[in-house]
Amino acid sequence: MRYIGSHISSSKGYEVMGKQALKLGATTFAFFTRNPRGGKAKAIDPADVEKYLVIAREQEFGPIVAHAPYTLNACAAREELRTFARETFADDLRRMEYTPGNYYNFHPGSHVGQGTQTGIEKIAEILNDVLKPEQQTMVLLETMSGKGSEVGRSFEELQAIRERVELKEKTGICLDTCHVWDAGYNIADDLDGVLQEFDRIIGLEHLKAVHMNDSMNPLGAHKDRHARIGEGHIGLAAFTAIVRHPVLGKLPLILETPNDDAGWTEEIAMLRSM
Ligand code: FE
Ligand code: FE
Ligand code: ZN
Repeated sequence: MRYIGSHISSSKGYEVMGKQALKLGATTFAFFTRNPRGGKAKAIDPADVEKYLVIAREQEFGPIVAHAPYTLNACAAREELRTFARETFADDLRRMEYTPGNYYNFHPGSHVGQGTQTGIEKIAEILNDVLKPEQQTMVLLETMSGKGSEVGRSFEELQAIRERVELKEKTGICLDTCHVWDAGYNIADDLDGVLQEFDRIIGLEHLKAVHMNDSMNPLGAHKDRHARIGEGHIGLAAFTAIVRHPVLGKLPLILETPNDDAGWTEEIAMLRSM
């Protein structure tokens, strides 16, 4: 079974997300837990969640991958921003327990001039504050392109965060193809080499989801501009290899490409045909 999907609007609740996924031919999806720019989340309606869970069971959906708001910066310099990050993170994790067994993906953060080391320590500190032994949700650190002062631009930085987390088993990695490419990992010519390095530094068993995006920029550009699959500098071959890969092909593969519904339907079908 392949789990392929795209980002879906969460504004009308869980059942609508499930139905929208079906319309696109998806068997997984990603959604923002609240406005991607931050703000208050809508109250969860357990009856709505229940209807979604029925759809997910019947259609054999794979794990879904919720996305934290972009404004959540766990290593911000200003303490009130870190308080917002901590409270939003904790609230989202409470909400995720309505749909146990899924993933919550976040951008590790931007150190805004404090240095990578301080960034790593602050991110781990927030994870240690919010992760709970009883939670059924796994938190995924997303691989970043290294634009600005982003932390998580290398497998080493991601592993340095994980190493400082007490409940490590509650954490995993979401590999964004555009971001790793922009960070300098050549998944077009040497996917196996990149995955071997991932395995050596983090462990391939900790890779839990893939964001499938081509890149508008060349290898190592540190830019982060997503392109449609096959329309960027990474190229179709790398995505074919990912879909066919014995480990990666079984993970939720999420499109974050610049598209409308028709475009995603097409891209999902194309990935399935690989
Ligand atoms: Fe992301
Ligand atoms: Fe992403
Ligand atoms: Zn991106």
